[in-house]
Amino acid sequence: MRKKIVAGNWKMNLDYASGVSLFSEIVNMVRDEKNGDQIAIICSPYIHLNSLAKLGGEVVKIGAQNCHQNDNGAFTGEISAGMVKSVGCEYVIIGHSERRQYFAESNELLAQKTVKALENDLTPLFCIGETLDERNNGSYFEVLKTQLEQGVFGLSAADFSKVVIAYEPVWAIGTGLTATSAQAQEVHAYIRKEIAAKYSNEIAEATSILYGGSCNPKNAAELFAQQDIDGGLIGGASLKSRDFVDIVKAFN
Ligand code: PGA
Repeated sequence: MRKKIVAGNWKMNLDYASGVSLFSEIVNMVRDEKNGDQIAIICSPYIHLNSLAKLGGEVVKIGAQNCHQNDNGAFTGEISAGMVKSVGCEYVIIGHSERRQYFAESNELLAQKTVKALENDLTPLFCIGETLDERNNGSYFEVLKTQLEQGVFGLSAADFSKVVIAYEPVWAIGTGLTATSAQAQEVHAYIRKEIAAKYSNEIAEATSILYGGSCNPKNAAELFAQQDIDGGLIGGASLKSRDFVDIVKAFN
């Protein structure tokens, strides 16, 4: 059975006190209401991580939104995977489209970050996704394949087995435009097929593939009911405890 996962991505939102307060609410609600074996994760800004892990990391797992590709050194303003791990995180988002777009993170760089995350025993939530132009001109399968090949397919089978993939169509992120469940399922099935071709059917069947892009309490159940959708990466809706926890509960 594949792991079912709902991960919130707070992005650059919430000051320290607001983050701690929202996380406490989420932990209490998940503790009281969770209805299955799905894993809930919050990926907060770095400054919250240490406190959140102590507050309820055994109920809601903690992740960072990025890490540096080096272990340490003269990289002013950066945070390493080892530092992230040292405060109790278990996950790290790598290759979010906002990192690719605003910070020019290439597939090659993201491959290095993924290796560092794994070396430090963090589970990478590795994001891929096409732009609206790429969707409209029909090149999206090619784009996704390149992101997989250059980003994670250099890993050994043993290492790849520890990675979670998140499909996030860029045109659906923060826009209120969600991929239909059929559009998302088509891509998830394609990703799983590519993983099977690169590694094996067993590994493909065991890989969790999350959908992200305007996922909300209204559309989550239909998305998560698709055969190849194993959960979600949630931006805006993870900033409201009720919405986030309703998405955590949206599995059949
Ligand atoms: P959204 O963001 O849910 O606000 O569309 C998703 C993401 O960027 O991970």
